[in-house]
Amino acid sequence: MHSLQNVNLDQFKADLHSHTYYSDGSASPKELIDHAIEIGLSALSITDHDTVDAYVEAIPYANQKGFCLVSGVEFSAIFKKRNVHILGYGLDIHHPFLHSFCRLQQSRRKDRNLRMLEKLKRFRFEISENDLEELEKLHRTVGRPHIANIMLQKGYVRSIQEAFSIYLGDGRCCYEQGDTASIDEVIDVVKQCRGKVFLAHPHLLQDGLFVKEVLQHDFDGIECYYARCPKEKERRWLKIAKERSLLISGGSDYHGTMKPHIPLGCSWISFEDFSRIFSVCL
Ligand code: AMP
Ligand code: ZN
Ligand code: FE
Ligand code: FE
Repeated sequence: MHSLQNVNLDQFKADLHSHTYYSDGSASPKELIDHAIEIGLSALSITDHDTVDAYVEAIPYANQKGFCLVSGVEFSAIFKKRNVHILGYGLDIHHPFLHSFCRLQQSRRKDRNLRMLEKLKRFRFEISENDLEELEKLHRTVGRPHIANIMLQKGYVRSIQEAFSIYLGDGRCCYEQGDTASIDEVIDVVKQCRGKVFLAHPHLLQDGLFVKEVLQHDFDGIECYYARCPKEKERRWLKIAKERSLLISGGSDYHGTMKPHIPLGCSWISFEDFSRIFSVCL
């Protein structure tokens, strides 16, 4: 991690949730770092879905700019047939186990994407395997947002939101869960790579009882500050974090033009929470 010695700790802001075009964001790693510097963030984590490949380009660039970039990743898991997103921080991004797990997740995604394309064909939405392979030239991880984007470009839907709410969203008619990792499998990988494990955007799981069940797994922390999540919801997760002695994370879940209503840095954590996760000594 780059030195934080020149940072004013009272004004410290770390956005620990962002995506590049290595997954379903629109910015390159360099563009994302430039953007973070421009808006005055003190630290950033790139948390692409199922890949850490953005760091190959991001680490030397952050070092050159004297910017504090911390390692991160977002994995999908299934628990009781529901999608749970898990963030890993501070992991050794060169760990071979991490790379083999990312490859496994990506191949699971490919199978799942093909199954979703089959379902979409029933509605005469013609998206070919080749269309997805084209996307793989730019994106390491291809998922539902990319499929939604193709549907928009081909004029099958009027918006990404429509693609999700009618066809691709969890449980919708063209949704496929696919063969996905369990929560324990993801936790094990992140911990073997010396990372800390956080439950991402718990409010998207909607039901509080389910969140409590999910948190019975060996999480280190919970994402309490998220995108434009209302303050009262944040308070709920902060309370749970305190009761269970969990670490606190937060970030914007920035996806660039893929989610234009969410600006980088709209959620962030203070130096106090940041230093508990990354054991910073000044
Ligand atoms: P996947 O990784 O293929 O399961 O796709 C999940 C991603 O799709 C999430 O990270 C979100 O960025 C996006 N997503 C999920 N549900 C919706 C929704 N209802 N509207 C827009 N984007 C969504
Ligand atoms: Zn995403
Ligand atoms: Fe997520
Ligand atoms: Fe995300």
